[in-house]
Amino acid sequence: SIVYLNGDWIDASEARISVEDRGFLLSDGVYEVTPAYRGRFFLFDRHLERLRSGLATLRIEMELDGLAEIHDRLLADNELADDEVSYVYLQVTRGVAPRTHAFPKMPVPPTVYAFARPYRRPDRTVWEQGFEAVTVPDRRWARVDVKTIALLPNVLAQQAAVDAGVSDAILVRDGIALEGAHNNFFAVFGRTVVTHPRSNVILPGITREYVIRMARELGFEVDERPIQVEELARANEAFFTGTTTEVRPTVRIDGRPVGSGAVGPVARRLFDAFLERVERHAAG
Ligand code: PLP
Repeated sequence: SIVYLNGDWIDASEARISVEDRGFLLSDGVYEVTPAYRGRFFLFDRHLERLRSGLATLRIEMELDGLAEIHDRLLADNELADDEVSYVYLQVTRGVAPRTHAFPKMPVPPTVYAFARPYRRPDRTVWEQGFEAVTVPDRRWARVDVKTIALLPNVLAQQAAVDAGVSDAILVRDGIALEGAHNNFFAVFGRTVVTHPRSNVILPGITREYVIRMARELGFEVDERPIQVEELARANEAFFTGTTTEVRPTVRIDGRPVGSGAVGPVARRLFDAFLERVERHAAG
């Protein structure tokens, strides 16, 4: 595949970064993943804004003006512009400098890397069976609202889910179900859709934000408040949201059925509305 690296368009097999890259040595960087539906990026400005905010928090200086063009060209060069769903992964690190913890004294240009990849949504019949999740202790740092490339605790949490033979991990801290290893978590109580409020303990998902807005438009109550793990025993439904998750219903948590143990009407309504909207977006 053709990737973008620091202004060059090259085959992925040719892409090289320095061993002194601060992303490699220190995980000193941020990333963003933006979906495209039939070649049209969805909520691009929201993803760009989150990137801008993360870079500002880490004090990495970078010109963002060319990014839309880079995203479009990645799809075009990789013949993904007609795919139903694809996404672009973009990573920015503080750049290359002799290893020290503090920022390089002399400013260095950031390392900018991006690739595009097709995404295959699970078949609807699979989706309708629902998915399972396990709870995993949240071992991450105190600023997970920044989308940094330091993802080791997320890697271990997702592997714990895979080891348990399930699709998703629910990260739990102080008895509260915060979010997934790479997606946000929602529970449904009656007609109220509940998810953890935006704060430093969750990643402010763009899909989360979109699904909240959509749920309100569809007439559901949305309550952004902490969800106790114990409450999940009486939840009617649960689901995850994310760029590569879309809306994924959870029918068992730690082996126990959620609600009836089948995919519920709220998750189904939200997923259908989501699909309808991305299709409309794709059609222009
Ligand atoms: N939470 C975490 C920890 C994530 O890594 C992600 C996405 O990668 C999300 C939530 C979902 O965010 P988005 O909807 O913007 O993809």
